[in-house]
Amino acid sequence: MSFKSLGLSDALLKAVSEKGYTTPSPIQQKAIPKVLEGKDVLASAQTGTGKTAGFTLPMLHNLIANPRQGRRKVRALVLTPTRELAAQIYDNVREYSKYVDIKSTVIFGGVNQNPQVRTIRQGVDILVATPGRLLDLENQGLLSLSDIEFLVLDEADRMLDMGFIHDIKKVLRLVPAKRQNLLFSATFNKDIKKLASSILTNPVLVEA
Ligand code: AMP
Repeated sequence: MSFKSLGLSDALLKAVSEKGYTTPSPIQQKAIPKVLEGKDVLASAQTGTGKTAGFTLPMLHNLIANPRQGRRKVRALVLTPTRELAAQIYDNVREYSKYVDIKSTVIFGGVNQNPQVRTIRQGVDILVATPGRLLDLENQGLLSLSDIEFLVLDEADRMLDMGFIHDIKKVLRLVPAKRQNLLFSATFNKDIKKLASSILTNPVLVEA
């Protein structure tokens, strides 16, 4: 099994091979083809399984395959519980998008919002965010979620543990109904299943 056989574009394969990866991890082998097909995916995966590339690579592929019309706008939103995780995902997104015309940024609380706002104004396709700062900027009219085509919830169980359920529900009211959704969680209790059913449409289940 190779990354090429999963159907990813050459520009993404080049970035992957520069990272030194030769074989897709189990979660990548299972999730990437489903995301490329446009399906919603519900994935059970711990940190360390390669889940970040598992959603980032096919998300980039789908965004490039369907080029934007006109001005650059936020087409993909990756929601994460903590700033550390947000920063880590953003690093991955930047590395994998090195050879494609996709811009990304990361926003989280606890730091001055102005540099984040300036970057968003310059135009980004992918936004990696923690829920609080995201809604804060949206409330101020500094970013719009009305063009989101792709929604990823990473570490959804931790987001619920940290009390983000109401923020997630607010985000869901701000994004278009027609979109592709991916939800990653290490554990699956009743609350996660309920959240998943409110976000995902006919999801494919994937386990690492
Ligand atoms: P993650 O679970 O996304 O946090 O990834 C865990 C670690 O595995 C990160 O350091 C990745 O850079 C690395 N990684 C992801 N996919 C692969 C792969 N296919 N082969 C080798 N390492 C990988």
